[in-house]
Amino acid sequence: MTTRHRNFINGKFVDTAGGNFIPVFNPATDQVISEIPDTPAGVVAEAVAAAKAAQKGWGKLPAIQRAAALRALSAKIRENQTALARTIVEEQGKILGLAEVEVAFTADYLDYMAEWARRIEGEIITSDRPGENIFLFRQPIGVVGGILPWNFPFFLIARKLGPALVTGNAVVIKPSEETPNNAAMFAQLVAETDIPPGIVNFVFGGGGSTGAALCDDPDVGMLSFTGSVETGSRIMAAAAKNITKVNLELGGKAPAIVLADADIDLSVKAIRDSRVINSGQVCNCAERVYVDRRVEDEFVSKLASAMDQATYGDPLANQSVDMGPLINKKGLAKVEGLVQRALKAGANLVTGGSVAELGSGSYYRPTVLTGCGQADEIMQKEIFGPVIPVNTFDTLDEAIERANDSIYGLTSSIYTRDIGVAMRACNEIRFGETYINRENFEAMQGFHAGTRRSGIGGADGKHGLYEYTQTHVVYLQS
Ligand code: NAD
Repeated sequence: MTTRHRNFINGKFVDTAGGNFIPVFNPATDQVISEIPDTPAGVVAEAVAAAKAAQKGWGKLPAIQRAAALRALSAKIRENQTALARTIVEEQGKILGLAEVEVAFTADYLDYMAEWARRIEGEIITSDRPGENIFLFRQPIGVVGGILPWNFPFFLIARKLGPALVTGNAVVIKPSEETPNNAAMFAQLVAETDIPPGIVNFVFGGGGSTGAALCDDPDVGMLSFTGSVETGSRIMAAAAKNITKVNLELGGKAPAIVLADADIDLSVKAIRDSRVINSGQVCNCAERVYVDRRVEDEFVSKLASAMDQATYGDPLANQSVDMGPLINKKGLAKVEGLVQRALKAGANLVTGGSVAELGSGSYYRPTVLTGCGQADEIMQKEIFGPVIPVNTFDTLDEAIERANDSIYGLTSSIYTRDIGVAMRACNEIRFGETYINRENFEAMQGFHAGTRRSGIGGADGKHGLYEYTQTHVVYLQS
Protein backbone atom coordinates (compact mmCIF):
# COMPACT_ATOMS: atom_id res chain seq x y z
CA MET A 1 0.00 0.00 0.00
CA THR A 2 1.16 3.53 -0.78
CA THR A 3 2.43 5.52 2.21
CA ARG A 4 0.04 8.30 3.12
CA HIS A 5 1.99 11.08 4.89
CA ARG A 6 0.59 12.90 7.88
CA ASN A 7 1.22 16.50 8.85
CA PHE A 8 3.59 17.13 11.74
CA ILE A 9 1.93 19.67 14.04
CA ASN A 10 2.79 20.52 17.63
CA GLY A 11 5.18 17.57 17.92
CA LYS A 12 2.71 14.95 16.64
CA PHE A 13 1.94 13.29 13.34
CA VAL A 14 -1.72 14.02 12.72
CA ASP A 15 -4.22 12.65 10.21
CA THR A 16 -6.10 15.10 8.04
CA ALA A 17 -9.73 14.10 8.02
CA GLY A 18 -11.36 13.91 4.58
CA GLY A 19 -10.20 16.24 1.83
CA ASN A 20 -8.06 15.52 -1.20
CA PHE A 21 -4.84 13.58 -1.40
CA ILE A 22 -2.06 14.30 -3.89
CA PRO A 23 -0.07 11.40 -5.41
CA VAL A 24 3.74 11.57 -5.39
CA PHE A 25 5.63 10.00 -8.31
CA ASN A 26 9.07 8.52 -8.87
CA PRO A 27 10.09 10.60 -11.93
CA ALA A 28 12.29 7.78 -13.24
CA THR A 29 9.56 5.13 -13.29
CA ASP A 30 6.34 7.20 -13.26
CA GLN A 31 5.13 4.99 -10.38
CA VAL A 32 3.14 6.46 -7.49
CA ILE A 33 5.31 6.12 -4.36
CA SER A 34 3.29 7.96 -1.70
CA GLU A 35 0.54 10.49 -1.21
CA ILE A 36 0.05 13.62 0.84
CA PRO A 37 -2.99 15.42 2.15
CA ASP A 38 -3.86 18.66 0.39
CA THR A 39 -3.95 20.33 3.79
CA PRO A 40 -6.82 22.82 4.13
CA ALA A 41 -6.54 26.30 5.60
CA GLY A 42 -8.02 25.30 8.96
CA VAL A 43 -5.26 22.77 9.60
CA VAL A 44 -2.58 25.18 8.41
CA ALA A 45 -3.97 27.65 10.98
CA GLU A 46 -3.59 24.98 13.69
CA ALA A 47 0.07 24.55 12.77
CA VAL A 48 0.66 28.30 12.84
CA ALA A 49 -1.13 28.58 16.20
CA ALA A 50 1.03 25.78 17.64
CA ALA A 51 4.17 27.53 16.36
CA LYS A 52 3.06 30.85 17.78
CA ALA A 53 2.38 29.38 21.22
CA ALA A 54 5.63 27.39 21.35
CA GLN A 55 7.80 30.27 20.13
CA LYS A 56 7.13 32.33 23.25
CA GLY A 57 9.28 30.05 25.41
CA TRP A 58 11.74 29.12 22.67
CA GLY A 59 12.57 32.76 21.95
CA LYS A 60 13.51 33.30 25.59
CA LEU A 61 15.99 30.42 25.75
CA PRO A 62 19.68 31.26 25.52
CA ALA A 63 20.64 30.90 21.86
CA ILE A 64 23.23 28.28 22.82
CA GLN A 65 20.41 25.96 23.94
CA ARG A 66 18.64 26.37 20.65
CA ALA A 67 21.95 25.66 18.91
CA ALA A 68 22.22 22.38 20.84
CA ALA A 69 18.88 21.35 19.33
CA LEU A 70 20.21 22.03 15.82
CA ARG A 71 23.30 19.93 16.57
CA ALA A 72 21.12 17.06 17.82
CA LEU A 73 19.21 17.25 14.54
CA SER A 74 22.36 17.27 12.41
CA ALA A 75 23.61 14.17 14.26
CA LYS A 76 20.32 12.37 13.49
CA ILE A 77 20.62 13.38 9.83
CA ARG A 78 24.12 11.91 9.63
CA GLU A 79 22.97 8.66 11.22
CA ASN A 80 20.27 8.33 8.54
CA GLN A 81 22.26 9.59 5.56
CA THR A 82 21.86 6.54 3.33
CA ALA A 83 18.08 6.20 3.76
CA LEU A 84 17.59 9.94 3.34
CA ALA A 85 19.68 10.06 0.16
CA ARG A 86 17.80 7.14 -1.40
CA THR A 87 14.47 8.79 -0.59
CA ILE A 88 15.58 12.01 -2.29
CA VAL A 89 16.69 10.07 -5.38
CA GLU A 90 13.43 8.14 -5.54
CA GLU A 91 11.15 11.17 -5.48
CA GLN A 92 13.33 13.82 -7.12
CA GLY A 93 15.45 11.95 -9.64
CA LYS A 94 18.95 13.24 -8.85
CA ILE A 95 21.83 10.77 -8.79
CA LEU A 96 22.70 9.08 -5.49
CA GLY A 97 26.11 10.75 -5.13
CA LEU A 98 24.52 14.18 -5.35
CA ALA A 99 21.76 13.22 -2.91
CA GLU A 100 24.43 12.05 -0.44
CA VAL A 101 26.18 15.40 -0.80
CA GLU A 102 22.85 17.16 -0.23
CA VAL A 103 22.23 15.26 3.01
CA ALA A 104 25.79 15.77 4.29
CA PHE A 105 25.68 19.47 3.41
CA THR A 106 22.34 19.81 5.21
CA ALA A 107 23.84 18.40 8.43
CA ASP A 108 26.88 20.69 8.08
CA TYR A 109 24.59 23.64 7.43
CA LEU A 110 22.68 23.09 10.68
CA ASP A 111 25.99 22.86 12.57
CA TYR A 112 27.17 26.05 10.87
CA MET A 113 23.99 27.90 11.86
CA ALA A 114 24.35 26.53 15.42
CA GLU A 115 27.80 28.17 15.58
CA TRP A 116 26.11 31.57 15.28
CA ALA A 117 24.48 31.17 18.70
CA ARG A 118 27.28 33.06 20.50
CA ARG A 119 27.73 35.56 17.69
CA ILE A 120 24.28 37.13 17.33
CA GLU A 121 25.16 40.74 18.05
CA GLY A 122 23.19 43.91 18.58
CA GLU A 123 24.63 47.42 18.69
CA ILE A 124 25.06 50.28 21.14
CA ILE A 125 24.64 53.62 19.40
CA THR A 126 25.69 57.00 20.76
CA SER A 127 22.83 59.30 21.62
CA ASP A 128 22.28 63.04 21.04
CA ARG A 129 20.93 63.31 24.59
CA PRO A 130 23.05 63.49 27.72
CA GLY A 131 22.82 60.37 29.89
CA GLU A 132 21.08 58.26 27.26
CA ASN A 133 22.12 54.91 25.77
CA ILE A 134 20.61 53.56 22.57
CA PHE A 135 20.59 49.78 22.28
CA LEU A 136 19.74 47.84 19.13
CA PHE A 137 18.60 44.30 19.89
CA ARG A 138 17.99 41.52 17.40
CA GLN A 139 14.76 39.78 18.31
CA PRO A 140 13.07 36.79 16.70
CA ILE A 141 10.30 37.57 14.21
CA GLY A 142 7.97 34.89 15.62
CA VAL A 143 6.52 32.35 13.20
CA VAL A 144 8.33 31.80 9.91
CA GLY A 145 6.50 30.11 7.05
CA GLY A 146 8.91 28.20 4.78
CA ILE A 147 7.65 27.27 1.30
CA LEU A 148 9.97 24.99 -0.65
CA PRO A 149 10.70 23.84 -4.21
CA TRP A 150 11.60 20.29 -5.22
CA ASN A 151 15.14 20.60 -6.63
CA PHE A 152 17.15 20.52 -3.37
CA PRO A 153 14.22 19.65 -1.14
CA PHE A 154 16.09 18.37 1.92
CA PHE A 155 18.78 21.05 2.09
CA LEU A 156 16.24 23.84 1.65
CA ILE A 157 14.41 22.75 4.82
CA ALA A 158 17.64 23.40 6.76
CA ARG A 159 18.36 26.63 4.91
CA LYS A 160 15.17 28.05 6.39
CA LEU A 161 14.91 26.12 9.66
CA GLY A 162 18.56 26.57 10.74
CA PRO A 163 18.74 30.38 10.86
CA ALA A 164 15.11 30.66 11.97
CA LEU A 165 15.52 28.38 14.99
CA VAL A 166 18.87 29.64 16.25
CA THR A 167 17.53 33.21 16.27
CA GLY A 168 14.48 32.12 18.30
CA ASN A 169 11.72 31.65 15.74
CA ALA A 170 9.34 28.72 15.20
CA VAL A 171 8.68 27.38 11.70
CA VAL A 172 5.86 25.95 9.62
CA ILE A 173 7.34 24.29 6.55
CA LYS A 174 5.38 23.46 3.40
CA PRO A 175 7.48 21.15 1.22
CA SER A 176 6.91 20.88 -2.51
CA GLU A 177 4.09 18.50 -3.40
CA GLU A 178 6.59 16.82 -5.76
CA THR A 179 9.04 15.87 -2.99
CA PRO A 180 7.39 15.45 0.41
CA ASN A 181 8.90 12.07 1.39
CA ASN A 182 12.26 13.44 2.53
CA ALA A 183 10.43 16.14 4.50
CA ALA A 184 8.36 13.48 6.30
CA MET A 185 11.66 11.84 7.28
CA PHE A 186 13.01 15.20 8.44
CA ALA A 187 9.89 15.60 10.62
CA GLN A 188 10.47 12.14 12.09
CA LEU A 189 14.05 13.12 13.01
CA VAL A 190 12.78 16.33 14.64
CA ALA A 191 10.34 14.18 16.67
CA GLU A 192 13.29 12.11 17.91
CA THR A 193 15.10 15.18 19.32
CA ASP A 194 14.30 17.39 22.32
CA ILE A 195 13.09 20.25 20.12
CA PRO A 196 9.91 21.34 21.93
CA PRO A 197 6.56 20.53 20.27
CA GLY A 198 5.34 23.31 17.99
CA ILE A 199 8.78 24.76 17.15
CA VAL A 200 9.00 22.80 13.89
CA ASN A 201 5.82 21.94 11.98
CA PHE A 202 5.34 20.43 8.53
CA VAL A 203 2.15 20.84 6.49
CA PHE A 204 1.83 18.99 3.19
CA GLY A 205 -0.22 20.07 0.22
CA GLY A 206 -0.50 22.01 -3.00
CA GLY A 207 0.65 25.56 -3.63
CA GLY A 208 -2.69 27.22 -4.34
CA SER A 209 -4.27 25.51 -1.32
CA THR A 210 -1.89 24.78 1.59
CA GLY A 211 0.82 27.21 0.45
CA ALA A 212 -1.65 30.03 -0.10
CA ALA A 213 -3.23 29.39 3.34
CA LEU A 214 0.19 29.80 4.97
CA CYS A 215 0.70 33.09 3.11
CA ASP A 216 -2.72 34.37 4.24
CA ASP A 217 -2.23 33.62 7.94
CA PRO A 218 -1.86 36.88 9.90
CA ASP A 219 0.21 35.14 12.59
CA VAL A 220 3.02 34.32 10.14
CA GLY A 221 5.64 37.03 10.60
CA MET A 222 7.85 36.11 7.67
CA LEU A 223 7.45 34.05 4.51
CA SER A 224 10.70 32.50 3.40
CA PHE A 225 10.14 31.17 -0.09
CA THR A 226 12.32 29.41 -2.63
CA GLY A 227 10.82 28.70 -6.05
CA SER A 228 9.83 30.27 -9.33
CA VAL A 229 9.43 33.98 -10.08
CA GLU A 230 5.73 33.46 -10.89
CA THR A 231 4.99 31.90 -7.50
CA GLY A 232 7.23 34.42 -5.73
CA SER A 233 5.17 37.21 -7.22
CA ARG A 234 1.94 35.54 -6.02
CA ILE A 235 3.38 35.08 -2.54
CA MET A 236 4.44 38.70 -2.39
CA ALA A 237 0.94 39.79 -3.42
CA ALA A 238 -0.60 37.55 -0.73
CA ALA A 239 1.87 38.83 1.87
CA ALA A 240 0.83 42.39 1.10
CA LYS A 241 -2.52 41.80 2.81
CA ASN A 242 -0.98 41.41 6.28
CA ILE A 243 2.27 43.31 5.51
CA THR A 244 4.15 40.04 6.09
CA LYS A 245 7.89 40.18 5.53
CA VAL A 246 9.02 38.17 2.49
CA ASN A 247 12.35 36.57 1.72
CA LEU A 248 12.29 35.36 -1.88
CA GLU A 249 14.89 33.10 -3.50
CA LEU A 250 13.67 32.81 -7.08
CA GLY A 251 14.74 31.59 -10.48
CA GLY A 252 17.87 32.37 -12.44
CA LYS A 253 19.22 32.59 -15.97
CA ALA A 254 22.92 32.55 -15.15
CA PRO A 255 25.17 33.85 -17.95
CA ALA A 256 28.62 32.25 -18.36
CA ILE A 257 31.06 34.57 -20.18
CA VAL A 258 34.01 32.77 -21.80
CA LEU A 259 36.78 35.17 -22.83
CA ALA A 260 39.40 34.45 -25.49
CA ASP A 261 42.19 33.99 -22.93
CA ALA A 262 40.18 31.53 -20.81
CA ASP A 263 41.31 28.01 -20.01
CA ILE A 264 38.85 26.48 -22.47
CA ASP A 265 39.04 22.95 -21.06
CA LEU A 266 38.32 24.26 -17.57
CA SER A 267 35.36 26.34 -18.79
CA VAL A 268 33.94 23.43 -20.79
CA LYS A 269 34.14 21.07 -17.83
CA ALA A 270 32.62 23.57 -15.39
CA ILE A 271 29.77 24.56 -17.70
CA ARG A 272 29.05 20.97 -18.74
CA ASP A 273 29.01 19.79 -15.12
CA SER A 274 26.73 22.63 -14.09
CA ARG A 275 24.26 21.69 -16.82
CA VAL A 276 24.33 17.97 -16.12
CA ILE A 277 24.15 18.15 -12.33
CA ASN A 278 20.57 17.53 -11.16
CA SER A 279 19.72 17.31 -14.89
CA GLY A 280 20.18 21.10 -15.21
CA GLN A 281 17.52 21.81 -12.59
CA VAL A 282 19.57 24.15 -10.41
CA CYS A 283 18.84 27.85 -9.93
CA ASN A 284 22.47 28.93 -10.19
CA CYS A 285 23.82 26.74 -13.01
CA ALA A 286 24.97 28.23 -16.33
CA GLU A 287 21.77 28.78 -18.30
CA ARG A 288 23.28 30.70 -21.28
CA VAL A 289 26.82 31.05 -22.60
CA TYR A 290 28.51 34.08 -24.19
CA VAL A 291 31.71 33.04 -25.91
CA ASP A 292 34.37 35.22 -27.57
CA ARG A 293 34.16 34.69 -31.34
CA ARG A 294 37.91 33.91 -31.48
CA VAL A 295 37.49 30.75 -29.39
CA GLU A 296 33.95 29.84 -30.37
CA ASP A 297 34.81 26.83 -32.57
CA GLU A 298 37.11 25.22 -30.02
CA PHE A 299 34.72 25.90 -27.12
CA VAL A 300 31.59 24.66 -28.90
CA SER A 301 33.15 21.48 -30.25
CA LYS A 302 34.60 20.56 -26.84
CA LEU A 303 31.36 21.42 -25.04
CA ALA A 304 29.26 19.42 -27.51
CA SER A 305 31.46 16.37 -27.09
CA ALA A 306 31.42 16.69 -23.27
CA MET A 307 27.61 17.00 -23.25
CA ASP A 308 27.28 14.11 -25.69
CA GLN A 309 29.15 11.83 -23.33
CA ALA A 310 26.79 12.52 -20.40
CA THR A 311 24.81 9.38 -19.60
CA TYR A 312 21.28 9.28 -18.21
CA GLY A 313 18.78 6.82 -16.79
CA ASP A 314 17.01 5.71 -13.62
CA PRO A 315 19.51 6.72 -10.92
CA LEU A 316 18.41 3.99 -8.49
CA ALA A 317 18.52 1.20 -11.08
CA ASN A 318 21.85 2.32 -12.57
CA GLN A 319 24.05 4.23 -10.17
CA SER A 320 26.73 5.01 -12.75
CA VAL A 321 24.60 7.47 -14.77
CA ASP A 322 25.52 11.16 -14.84
CA MET A 323 21.90 12.35 -14.85
CA GLY A 324 18.48 11.20 -13.77
CA PRO A 325 15.14 12.28 -15.19
CA LEU A 326 13.58 15.72 -15.12
CA ILE A 327 11.11 16.20 -12.28
CA ASN A 328 7.92 15.52 -14.29
CA LYS A 329 6.25 15.52 -17.70
CA LYS A 330 5.41 19.22 -17.38
CA GLY A 331 9.09 20.07 -16.89
CA LEU A 332 10.00 17.87 -19.87
CA ALA A 333 7.39 19.52 -22.11
CA LYS A 334 8.68 22.95 -21.07
CA VAL A 335 12.29 22.09 -22.03
CA GLU A 336 11.20 20.47 -25.32
CA GLY A 337 9.03 23.50 -26.20
CA LEU A 338 11.88 25.95 -25.53
CA VAL A 339 14.33 23.97 -27.70
CA GLN A 340 11.88 23.51 -30.58
CA ARG A 341 10.97 27.22 -30.60
CA ALA A 342 14.68 28.15 -30.46
CA LEU A 343 15.32 26.01 -33.54
CA LYS A 344 12.40 27.67 -35.33
CA ALA A 345 13.85 31.05 -34.37
CA GLY A 346 17.10 30.13 -36.18
CA ALA A 347 19.35 28.44 -33.59
CA ASN A 348 21.66 25.63 -34.78
CA LEU A 349 21.43 22.25 -33.11
CA VAL A 350 24.95 21.01 -32.29
CA THR A 351 23.94 18.02 -30.20
CA GLY A 352 20.83 16.59 -28.49
CA GLY A 353 17.60 18.45 -29.14
CA SER A 354 14.99 15.82 -28.31
CA VAL A 355 13.20 13.85 -25.62
CA ALA A 356 14.98 10.58 -24.77
CA GLU A 357 12.53 7.67 -24.72
CA LEU A 358 13.64 5.18 -22.08
CA GLY A 359 10.25 3.47 -21.64
CA SER A 360 9.33 5.48 -18.56
CA GLY A 361 10.44 8.70 -16.88
CA SER A 362 11.06 12.21 -18.22
CA TYR A 363 14.47 12.42 -19.91
CA TYR A 364 15.90 15.05 -22.22
CA ARG A 365 19.09 14.59 -24.22
CA PRO A 366 21.99 16.84 -23.23
CA THR A 367 21.71 19.65 -25.77
CA VAL A 368 23.90 22.43 -27.16
CA LEU A 369 22.46 25.18 -29.38
CA THR A 370 24.51 27.87 -31.13
CA GLY A 371 23.55 31.01 -33.03
CA CYS A 372 21.04 31.94 -30.33
CA GLY A 373 19.99 35.60 -30.52
CA GLN A 374 20.05 37.74 -27.37
CA ALA A 375 16.30 38.45 -27.63
CA ASP A 376 15.39 34.80 -28.28
CA GLU A 377 13.21 33.13 -25.70
CA ILE A 378 15.91 30.47 -25.06
CA MET A 379 18.36 33.22 -23.96
CA GLN A 380 15.77 34.94 -21.78
CA LYS A 381 13.69 32.22 -20.05
CA GLU A 382 14.84 29.81 -17.38
CA ILE A 383 15.19 26.38 -19.06
CA PHE A 384 15.74 24.10 -16.03
CA GLY A 385 17.03 21.19 -18.09
CA PRO A 386 20.28 19.90 -19.66
CA VAL A 387 20.27 22.46 -22.47
CA ILE A 388 22.88 25.18 -23.18
CA PRO A 389 22.21 28.00 -25.65
CA VAL A 390 25.35 29.78 -26.93
CA ASN A 391 25.71 33.36 -28.18
CA THR A 392 28.94 34.81 -29.63
CA PHE A 393 30.43 38.23 -28.79
CA ASP A 394 33.27 40.42 -30.07
CA THR A 395 33.96 42.70 -27.09
CA LEU A 396 33.69 42.34 -23.32
CA ASP A 397 31.35 45.35 -23.22
CA GLU A 398 28.99 43.49 -25.53
CA ALA A 399 29.11 40.36 -23.36
CA ILE A 400 28.44 42.27 -20.14
CA GLU A 401 25.58 44.23 -21.68
CA ARG A 402 23.93 41.03 -22.90
CA ALA A 403 24.52 39.24 -19.60
CA ASN A 404 22.82 42.10 -17.72
CA ASP A 405 19.94 42.16 -20.21
CA SER A 406 17.75 39.75 -18.24
CA ILE A 407 14.83 39.87 -15.84
CA TYR A 408 16.88 37.50 -13.66
CA GLY A 409 19.86 38.51 -11.52
CA LEU A 410 20.83 35.51 -9.43
CA THR A 411 24.24 34.19 -10.49
CA SER A 412 26.79 34.64 -13.26
CA SER A 413 30.24 33.34 -14.18
CA ILE A 414 33.32 34.62 -16.01
CA TYR A 415 36.17 32.58 -17.50
CA THR A 416 39.48 34.42 -18.01
CA ARG A 417 43.10 34.21 -16.88
CA ASP A 418 43.36 38.01 -16.60
CA ILE A 419 42.54 39.19 -13.08
CA GLY A 420 42.17 42.79 -14.26
CA VAL A 421 39.56 41.79 -16.83
CA ALA A 422 37.80 39.60 -14.25
CA MET A 423 37.58 42.49 -11.77
CA ARG A 424 36.38 44.92 -14.41
CA ALA A 425 33.66 42.46 -15.45
CA CYS A 426 32.68 41.93 -11.79
CA ASN A 427 32.30 45.66 -11.29
CA GLU A 428 29.94 45.93 -14.22
CA ILE A 429 27.97 42.71 -14.09
CA ARG A 430 24.75 43.10 -12.10
CA PHE A 431 24.07 39.81 -10.36
CA GLY A 432 23.83 38.68 -6.77
CA GLU A 433 26.71 36.23 -7.29
CA THR A 434 29.61 35.93 -9.72
CA TYR A 435 31.87 32.88 -10.00
CA ILE A 436 35.26 33.37 -11.64
CA ASN A 437 36.63 30.29 -13.40
CA ARG A 438 34.03 27.99 -11.86
CA GLU A 439 30.30 27.43 -11.65
CA ASN A 440 28.05 26.88 -8.65
CA PHE A 441 27.79 25.86 -5.70
CA GLU A 442 27.55 28.69 -3.22
CA ALA A 443 29.21 28.52 0.21
CA MET A 444 27.13 28.37 3.40
CA GLN A 445 29.17 31.29 4.79
CA GLY A 446 28.50 33.47 1.71
CA PHE A 447 25.25 35.28 0.92
CA HIS A 448 23.00 33.80 -1.76
CA ALA A 449 20.75 36.59 -3.00
CA GLY A 450 19.39 37.61 -6.37
CA THR A 451 18.81 41.01 -7.91
CA ARG A 452 15.96 42.01 -10.26
CA ARG A 453 13.24 39.31 -10.35
CA SER A 454 15.52 36.66 -8.84
CA GLY A 455 14.46 37.67 -5.38
CA ILE A 456 14.40 39.86 -2.33
CA GLY A 457 16.72 39.29 0.61
CA GLY A 458 18.97 36.28 0.70
CA ALA A 459 20.21 33.20 2.51
CA ASP A 460 23.39 31.94 4.22
CA GLY A 461 26.13 33.50 6.30
CA LYS A 462 25.70 36.39 8.70
CA HIS A 463 23.45 38.37 6.38
CA GLY A 464 21.19 35.38 5.78
CA LEU A 465 20.96 34.75 9.53
CA TYR A 466 19.91 38.31 10.30
CA GLU A 467 17.07 38.07 7.76
CA TYR A 468 15.30 36.03 10.43
CA THR A 469 15.55 38.77 13.07
CA GLN A 470 13.61 41.90 13.84
CA THR A 471 15.51 44.88 15.19
CA HIS A 472 14.31 46.47 18.41
CA VAL A 473 15.81 49.78 19.48
CA VAL A 474 15.66 50.73 23.15
CA TYR A 475 16.38 54.28 24.42
CA LEU A 476 17.57 54.20 28.03
CA GLN A 477 17.57 57.58 29.71
CA SER A 478 19.46 57.43 33.00
P1 NAD B 1 7.30 26.65 -7.78
O1 NAD B 1 7.30 28.13 -7.68
O2 NAD B 1 6.43 26.02 -8.81
O3 NAD B 1 6.87 25.99 -6.38
C1 NAD B 1 7.58 26.23 -5.21
C2 NAD B 1 6.66 26.05 -4.01
O4 NAD B 1 5.65 27.04 -4.02
C3 NAD B 1 5.95 24.70 -3.94
O5 NAD B 1 5.96 24.22 -2.63
C4 NAD B 1 4.54 25.06 -4.37
O6 NAD B 1 3.56 24.19 -3.85
C5 NAD B 1 4.40 26.45 -3.76
N1 NAD B 1 3.34 27.30 -4.33
C6 NAD B 1 2.87 27.31 -5.59
N2 NAD B 1 1.89 28.24 -5.72
C7 NAD B 1 1.76 28.83 -4.51
C8 NAD B 1 0.92 29.87 -4.00
N3 NAD B 1 0.02 30.49 -4.76
N4 NAD B 1 1.07 30.23 -2.71
C9 NAD B 1 1.98 29.62 -1.92
N5 NAD B 1 2.79 28.63 -2.33
C10 NAD B 1 2.68 28.24 -3.62
O7 NAD B 1 8.81 26.24 -7.99
P2 NAD B 1 9.42 24.77 -8.24
O8 NAD B 1 9.05 24.33 -9.61
O9 NAD B 1 9.10 23.90 -7.10
O10 NAD B 1 11.00 25.07 -8.17
C11 NAD B 1 11.76 25.47 -9.26
C12 NAD B 1 12.07 26.95 -9.18
O11 NAD B 1 12.74 27.24 -7.96
C13 NAD B 1 13.01 27.40 -10.28
O12 NAD B 1 12.57 28.61 -10.82
C14 NAD B 1 14.34 27.60 -9.53
O13 NAD B 1 15.22 28.51 -10.16
C15 NAD B 1 13.87 28.07 -8.21
N6 NAD B 1 14.89 27.88 -7.17
C16 NAD B 1 15.56 28.98 -6.68
C17 NAD B 1 16.58 28.83 -5.74
C18 NAD B 1 17.30 30.02 -5.19
O14 NAD B 1 18.04 29.86 -4.22
N7 NAD B 1 17.15 31.22 -5.73
C19 NAD B 1 16.90 27.56 -5.28
C20 NAD B 1 16.21 26.45 -5.78
C21 NAD B 1 15.19 26.63 -6.73
